[in-house]
Amino acid sequence: MQGRRIDIIGGGIAGLSLGIYLQKSGFQTTIYEKHSMPGGLCTGWRRGDYTFNGCVHWILGARKGISFHEFWKEIIDIDGVRFCEHLEKTQIELKEADRHGERYFHFINNIDDFESYLLDIAPEDSKMIRRWTDKVRMVMPLLEYLPPVKYSMKLIKLIKILPFMRSWGKMSNKEFAKHFKNSFLRSAIENLYDAEMRMSVIVFAQAYAAKGVALYPIGGSLAFTKCLQDEYIKQKGVLRTNCEVKDIIVENNKATGLRLKNGETTTADFVASAADWHWTVFDALGGRFASEKMLQLRNPSKESVFYSYCRLFIGVAKSMKEWPHFERFNIPTLCLPDGTTLQKLEVEVYNYDTTLAPEGKVTMAVNILTREGDWWIKLRTDDMAKYKETKMSIENAIIDVMTQHYGTEWRDSIEVTDFITPATFERYTANLRGSSQGWSPLTDITKRLPIKPTLPGLNNFIMCGHWLEAGGGIPVALYTARKAADKIKNRLKAD
Ligand SMILES: Cc1cc2nc3c(=O)[nH]c(=O)nc-3n(C[C@H](O)[C@H](O)[C@H](O)COP(=O)(O)OP(=O)(O)OC[C@H]3O[C@@H](n4cnc5c(N)ncnc54)[C@H](O)[C@@H]3O)c2cc1C
Repeated sequence: MQGRRIDIIGGGIAGLSLGIYLQKSGFQTTIYEKHSMPGGLCTGWRRGDYTFNGCVHWILGARKGISFHEFWKEIIDIDGVRFCEHLEKTQIELKEADRHGERYFHFINNIDDFESYLLDIAPEDSKMIRRWTDKVRMVMPLLEYLPPVKYSMKLIKLIKILPFMRSWGKMSNKEFAKHFKNSFLRSAIENLYDAEMRMSVIVFAQAYAAKGVALYPIGGSLAFTKCLQDEYIKQKGVLRTNCEVKDIIVENNKATGLRLKNGETTTADFVASAADWHWTVFDALGGRFASEKMLQLRNPSKESVFYSYCRLFIGVAKSMKEWPHFERFNIPTLCLPDGTTLQKLEVEVYNYDTTLAPEGKVTMAVNILTREGDWWIKLRTDDMAKYKETKMSIENAIIDVMTQHYGTEWRDSIEVTDFITPATFERYTANLRGSSQGWSPLTDITKRLPIKPTLPGLNNFIMCGHWLEAGGGIPVALYTARKAADKIKNRLKAD
């Protein structure tokens, strides 16, 4: 393998992970990244005294007990990363109160504590509550094998999961809520997340949290990406930033290099794209290797692409220690010009990460999910002044409702704000419509359509990254990079 050249498009988590795996196996890789820094969606930036965490709430595999921990160990010193563990995932304000007069629902991570809490607020639902928490308990020990690190007889244990996936995988939280008698709990389940979710996804997220294997990395996305970037450089990988790829050079149905935006061309023994799937298939390769079914994805439906975000970041000269780290509270209905309607505001207070702001100050982030990525991108392209004006008016409306919640003293302590939209995500990472996690898991497009790492008829080429499995996220970026590295090794060994 010594000296075999691999060109990797994109320096997000997938591209960096693939680069490290391949460097460790003796290949010479170059990552071409269009932005001035690597990380892709997993990034952050500074404004004055404040660092804004652009992405991660949790890294799956932060601790031992899940196969992803072993995967991280293969490429970085994951045990050397400092993580923060929360007692509660979130607090959600509901319209009505529980039987103790409390309007906040506590989404507690420890599964025994969560069960006791639910039984206390809704004793009449004890059977359904135990059905739910028992599912989380069933999944917890299986996380070590999902996905498998190596194939062994122990994997037989995974059979248990199949009936659960079949029934709970079809049911959304809104449908699940209907099985409960207590109206506070019913409403809480309906509002567990901003968007509708499959119950299997929720149970898995609970199992991760209950086992303490999905945690927030101190320093946020920027610090976490730096671990991978440093390791890649240490392994003598070449990282070229501000280096946008125009397209992939193909000779005799074989990828042989890249054409860069700056006019340069490269030659390689193998090309890997860790960039957006749609861009790779339709722009970098001009749709030439897309099957009939893939062509249907040239203009995918809004529902098939994972939500993007509008996010308002705020730097406040107050510690905010007394506030929950993550909450969704009721607001008077807020209609955004892209058509998104909000009845709750989701706010993160990074009062647990002192590296993001100096003593006595804190960074905050408001998250608004939207499927209207194209609307924002078009507005920015067509009319920059209107785009800026729209952002400003939304920001003002949000600050107004937040002032009602946090008080005027809070408002007077605001030092910096930064409002970003799907157009920002698209501009910096080229993800279709600014998608935050690739394809949407609700429609599970990968089951129906052939999203595979390779393309029919194209040799010496592979893809990895969050577009390869519906639901995306950093785990998919890492796992698909690991699989791509194995495939490249096997392919080039055979040459
Ligand atoms: C607000 C938010 C919160 C999130 N929270 C979490 C979380 O808590 N946990 C979790 O697991 N996931 C989370 N995610 C999802 C996660 O960030 C992504 O799924 C993951 O980072 C995707 O990594 P990737 O490498 O596959 O793709 P990307 O991050 O999109 O990387 C692709 C890279 O390719 C580059 N590129 C694209 N086109 C070109 C080109 N032509 N030439 C050169 N370079 C190019 C881009 O600039 C980018 O750097 C969150 C996402 C968002 C937006």
